[in-house]
Amino acid sequence: MTSYVFPPPQTPSLPVVGSEARFPVRRIFCVGRNYADHAREMGHDPDREPPFFFDKPADALVIGEAAIPYPPLTAKLEHEAELVACLGAGGRDIPVDRALDLVWGYAIGNDLTRRDVQAQAKKLGRPWSLAKGFDASAVCGPVHPLSATGHPASGRIALSVNGATRQEGDLAQMIWSLAEVISILSREILLCPGDLIYTGTPAGVGPLQPGDRIRIEIAGLGHLENTVA
Ligand code: MN
Repeated sequence: MTSYVFPPPQTPSLPVVGSEARFPVRRIFCVGRNYADHAREMGHDPDREPPFFFDKPADALVIGEAAIPYPPLTAKLEHEAELVACLGAGGRDIPVDRALDLVWGYAIGNDLTRRDVQAQAKKLGRPWSLAKGFDASAVCGPVHPLSATGHPASGRIALSVNGATRQEGDLAQMIWSLAEVISILSREILLCPGDLIYTGTPAGVGPLQPGDRIRIEIAGLGHLENTVA
């Protein structure tokens, strides 16, 4: 048995709907600008430029309906409602027509962003790490097994804050389908069981304040509610 100089961190994990077993999380990847109307609101041409990726640490998860701590060093925390694909298998150079075979289930996610920090990073050509991958930046609901949901290729995705709708779109509006996203990402890195992929957000991203109540709905996955502490 390996001995460590201090106890190693536990594997982050998500609850699974209808099961006592938990889904172990390995890495968190996020797709940028995967809905045309959101690409436009961020000032970019959504003309099917190749998808790009950023990541968050697995221990940045806010699990289920836990409270979201307002992060330090930002005056513009923003929400991004996203469908999360939870991989149960891995591989590299996965063809598009086999890519969905890697998916174990789906969850509702919120890709929290320190937008002011991100804007500064963009301006200076610096990494987005601390704009996107800060503590408690990856809100994720319970994992719905594929057997319960199928692959949700279309259906409403919406986010409201204190009852007012901010984001509303359809999963079918993704510029790059989940199968394409998985295939393209698998050319860059070896995908592994436990990897999560946040698949992008529709238009309407906006700021959050302490005390705000966020509700995200995705067709077939129910809803997820979190309060900003
Ligand atoms: Mn996002």
